[in-house]
Amino acid sequence: MYFNSLLDAFFGPRNIFHVIECSVCGFDEIYYEDKETKKVIGKACSGCNFVQRFEN
Ligand SMILES: [Zn+2]
Repeated sequence: MYFNSLLDAFFGPRNIFHVIECSVCGFDEIYYEDKETKKVIGKACSGCNFVQRFEN
C-alpha cells in the first residue's frame, strides 16, 4: 500500500505509539515511536495523506 511505503521511507522502523481521531478528516491519526529508541518520531493520517516528522 502506497501510504505505508511512504511511512517506511519517512520514519523507518517504527511502532505505533497511540492513535487519535484526526481533527481534519475523522480517520485515524497515528503517532509513531522509533523501534529502537522508543522516542515519538512523528504522526500521520492516511485519510488526509498527512505525514509530519517531529524535530528534536
Ligand atoms: Zn486526517
